[in-house]
Amino acid sequence: MEISQEQINLVNNRIHALVKAESFYGKKLEEAGIESIATAEDFRKLPFSEKSDLRDAYPLGLMTVPEEEVVRIHSSSGTTGLPVIIPYTQKDVDDWATMFARCYAMAGVTNKDRVQITAGYGLWTAGIGFQAGAEKLGAMTVPMGPGNTEKQLQMMQDMKSSVLCATSSYALLLAEEIQKRGVADKLYLRKGIIGSERWGQKMRDRISKELGIELYDIYGLTEIYGPGIGISCKYDKGIHYWDDYVYIEIIDPETLQPLPDGEWGEIVITTLVKEGAPLIRYRTHDISRIIPGECPCGSKYPRLDVIGGRTDDMIKIKGVNVFPKQIEEILQEFPELSSEYQIRISHLDGKDTMRIYVETNGTVDFLDMARRVAAKVKSRIGFTPLVKVVEIGLLPRSMKKTKRVIDERYE
Ligand code: ZN
Repeated sequence: MEISQEQINLVNNRIHALVKAESFYGKKLEEAGIESIATAEDFRKLPFSEKSDLRDAYPLGLMTVPEEEVVRIHSSSGTTGLPVIIPYTQKDVDDWATMFARCYAMAGVTNKDRVQITAGYGLWTAGIGFQAGAEKLGAMTVPMGPGNTEKQLQMMQDMKSSVLCATSSYALLLAEEIQKRGVADKLYLRKGIIGSERWGQKMRDRISKELGIELYDIYGLTEIYGPGIGISCKYDKGIHYWDDYVYIEIIDPETLQPLPDGEWGEIVITTLVKEGAPLIRYRTHDISRIIPGECPCGSKYPRLDVIGGRTDDMIKIKGVNVFPKQIEEILQEFPELSSEYQIRISHLDGKDTMRIYVETNGTVDFLDMARRVAAKVKSRIGFTPLVKVVEIGLLPRSMKKTKRVIDERYE
């Protein structure tokens, strides 16, 4: 999606604020001699920002307003080294709640709903975001926080909670407990807002079926407000994101060049109105694509596809970047195949080869099946893999994380 003139004006406001505050990014801009941008081409020349920049600014180096305007900080969980501290102004907090309320509305949640929030409250952005958005919408919140399944189920019944906000793994755990106790018919749940993890279609189907609810995917990251910058709609055809608050581009993580709509790559986000810690061209390392065309729901907000992993999952083969999600999408177009697959990459006789193992049942011509899958991969991604078809049940299975990509080149 090309950046609009309106978005460019907003970016210029952020550039001025960053330079004035002498933030890490302001300094980057000064070094590059950039004071403002006029065109989409200028925008594409702006330097990227990275998590390491944010870490280097610890604790409050990202602050882009005078301290008296900061009302809150959040922190992203630092798996390695220092965490990242994000300062928020009152406007940032309000904007985030507005975006989040929009997410609930997109999911069909109203002020008559009762929203049970099982995400964590505290430094992390999840719980408080779900809370503020639901309050803004006027719904009744049940702020449970994580864990204590016994109490969750009790409140769910007594409060007649109609919306469950949870991670996919916790939603699955609750679904299993509900089934075990046989209390499903005592519940009033109708929707689930599920955030922050990558989850497969199987898990989604299971949660949806066992709880009897519609599920919505919410997207966001602490560096950019938190969850709530986008959500899937009832047609479940990608995640609508709020392009009046964020500008999203998809780049090739190797060449760093922007990719056209429809192509898979890394999500890069620019905040358009954030005050406390504006970010420009922030590399998320999340993989997705912008879905071209209009959604059947009629919403004008653009769409990201479901998050297809991290840039670390990228495979470079014969000079082409491939993401497991792309292969998965192609395989899903063949109803004869099961949902299981395995990708193996190896280096043989000086050449990279990809083998894709898929499963089908005995009524299908295996050779013909393999040819059709290979042809589709060739036409979509640009190289021909070796496709091996096996009987259903032969590929390894596990409920949690099945390792689907095996790169033998580095073993
Ligand atoms: Zn839609």
